[in-house]
Amino acid sequence: MICVLTGGTGGAKFVDGLRRVIPAEELTIIVNTGDDDDWWGLYISPDIDSIIYVLAGILSGERGWGVRGDTFHCLRAMKDLGEPTWFSVGDRDLAVHLMRTKLLSQGCTLSEVTRIIAERFGLSSRILPMSDQRVQTRIDTPAGELSFEEYFVKRWFQDPVNSVRFAGASETVPAPGVLDTIASAQAVLIAPSNPVTSIGPILAVPGIREALAQTKAPVVAVSPIIGSAAVSGPAATLMAAHGLEVSIRGVAAAYQGFLDMLVAHTSDAAVAEALTTTRFQVHCANILMETQQDRSQVARTALSLACPQIVTAYAAEVE
Ligand code: GDP
Repeated sequence: MICVLTGGTGGAKFVDGLRRVIPAEELTIIVNTGDDDDWWGLYISPDIDSIIYVLAGILSGERGWGVRGDTFHCLRAMKDLGEPTWFSVGDRDLAVHLMRTKLLSQGCTLSEVTRIIAERFGLSSRILPMSDQRVQTRIDTPAGELSFEEYFVKRWFQDPVNSVRFAGASETVPAPGVLDTIASAQAVLIAPSNPVTSIGPILAVPGIREALAQTKAPVVAVSPIIGSAAVSGPAATLMAAHGLEVSIRGVAAAYQGFLDMLVAHTSDAAVAEALTTTRFQVHCANILMETQQDRSQVARTALSLACPQIVTAYAAEVE
């Protein structure tokens, strides 16, 4: 079993590659829930949804979120009613939010809800929220403290950022299965997600960082940073606000204490060499996932470094 830590769009692309290289049932995916929010009275969990949709093969490639070919009738109707519509929810996406909210109101935990929704989609991967308790990523800006969705979606991540915090994280425990998965995995992969707001909240749940440091499995991350810039989104701004250098050095620093290997872009070869020690390796490859083929290739590269036997075992089966 391969454990993946992920959040957001970079992570979804990586998981899309993984599912094409090894069977989905080999994947247990631990997902960021710091972006979760309440919208129109519904509980939304954008990163879990992106993973469900990508594994179901229905994630919109054009938008990178939501369901491919979805309609937006409800969104327009809400607009006509004078309700806020800055967070675009498609009609099929809405059905998932309704179902999640219904199950939560009946007393199910977020892990139980996620398992039920994944089953209804016919998925064979295991998807675990990082915690069943609420953690809220809060972005402090000159305009005030914003939720992640306000900062990212409503305000297009244009605000300067003073700091980032994960409200409630210290009071939480990992969701059932999270620590066992990290301990018993053949390899732990950290997706090229935002190190601060997608992987950061997972690491802020007490016990997860320690489990990563203690696991016998190799822990391998794919860098979301190439040179001194993020491939997309606000990772550079958020890393700088968090005191991390915007480079593969900063990515390595974010995961210090448990990361065994980092996969960086070939153009970062010089820094990679300087960072490499006897206990920490940096492997250079193409890590841009522009095409379907790239996604599979990046997944295969990370897997081959972390767990070559699983790639060989399934070489002829998948895709
Ligand atoms: P956000 O967009 O910053 O909220 O972060 P997400 O966790 O959603 O994922 C986007 C992250 O993935 C960004 O930091 C990007 O730099 C990174 N990313 C996006 N596309 C790629 C890609 O093709 N390759 C790599 N290596 N990273 C990517």
